[in-house]
Amino acid sequence: MPAKGCRKQSKGNKRLKVRVSKGIGFCSGVTRAIKIALAAAGHADEVLSLGPLIHNPQVVEKLIGVGVKPLRRLGNGGKTLIIRSHGASPQVLERARRRGYTVVDATCPFVRNAQKNAFKLYRMGYGVVIVGEKTHPEVKGIRNQVGGRVIVVESSDQAKRLKFASKVGIIAQTTIAVDTFASVVAEISKRAREVLVFNTICIETAKRQERARVLAGKVDVLLVVGGRNSANTSRLESLCRTICSRTHHIETASEIDSRWFRRDSTVGIVAGASTPQWLVTGVVTNLRQL
Ligand code: SF4
Repeated sequence: MPAKGCRKQSKGNKRLKVRVSKGIGFCSGVTRAIKIALAAAGHADEVLSLGPLIHNPQVVEKLIGVGVKPLRRLGNGGKTLIIRSHGASPQVLERARRRGYTVVDATCPFVRNAQKNAFKLYRMGYGVVIVGEKTHPEVKGIRNQVGGRVIVVESSDQAKRLKFASKVGIIAQTTIAVDTFASVVAEISKRAREVLVFNTICIETAKRQERARVLAGKVDVLLVVGGRNSANTSRLESLCRTICSRTHHIETASEIDSRWFRRDSTVGIVAGASTPQWLVTGVVTNLRQL
């Protein structure tokens, strides 16, 4: 039974009505990175990815089984190295090549666009601001495109406490919440003389957030399926929790607790960009048996 878009009543005692958000499954950037990695693995015993290829432990486990292994830091080279969809800085790419890795770049085109825009703003003389998480690999990669000369801002509250140049160029981490980006842009616009904004939020993230927001308003309980290390999944969870207080973040169906649901509850399911369809199907199957 396909999970996508389904709206079924469970056959178990709880008689749950299950609604799965449209557009779940891997985003295009993750699909592309996995395809590239599998193609590379087909030509070698083992290929390496710089960090887990995607932020989903269950998929990474499967990838390891077919020879795509995550690497914590660069070693002595000699193997194929996949740059994951989050991208990497030019310095890291250069270091990897110097050490003898065959670099295969699977940076998502949306991330590449954010990198290019950061560089463009820097060349145009703007003080570059990235709205995103300082420690996220994508943000680190973008930051290093301009030699680290950027300010990373996570929220409008934080923006209130910072000093900015008179000319500010703003871009977004591709998976940041649309509202967060808008509020930071509004805050900086009050204080800088000139502001140039590139909205680099990926369109797929924006759509996923919007669908999650709508679904959260229509259900009694909402399950957000995805890796705990996945920033975009955690963001979906916080977004949904503001609308549906009975929101739970799970990685797999085994984490479902039947006490979350009352008889005849309507349960919504949303999933992060790195959550495969089969994990969502597992959740639906489990709910139907409660
Ligand atoms: S969420 Fe968007 S930016 Fe991130 S990998 Fe997917 S398509 Fe690319």
